[in-house]
Amino acid sequence: MSDLKYCQGPECHQHQTQDRIKGPKGNKTYQTRRRSHFYYGNGNFCSMWCWNQWFNKFGNRAIDHFGRLTEPKILTEQNAWYKSIDWDSDYENRQHVWRNGITREERPLTEAQYNDSNYTLNTGE
Ligand SMILES: [Zn+2]
Repeated sequence: MSDLKYCQGPECHQHQTQDRIKGPKGNKTYQTRRRSHFYYGNGNFCSMWCWNQWFNKFGNRAIDHFGRLTEPKILTEQNAWYKSIDWDSDYENRQHVWRNGITREERPLTEAQYNDSNYTLNTGE
């Protein structure tokens, strides 16, 4: 059997659906969904409802744990670079480019750099 995992929704088992019923006749229970793949919350939740239930229960603790913003983040010339594709040209000749959201400057970018999620010109958050 491949890697099956449980939906992390704290109340997933309280949804009385046919696919959650487990156990022999006379001893049936509703159980948390278990699948090889989920589509919500980075693959941790079977539905938006379960994802929201998790956040309602644990969200404040998670934000406090990982760092609550207490002042605004600021976009400057140094961290405003984003990768883009120049669709003015036809598909075969499309150009990958860096664009700066503040200065509007453009710089060349190779397709490999475009696909490398670690590659950036930004020097701050
Ligand atoms: Zn669920």
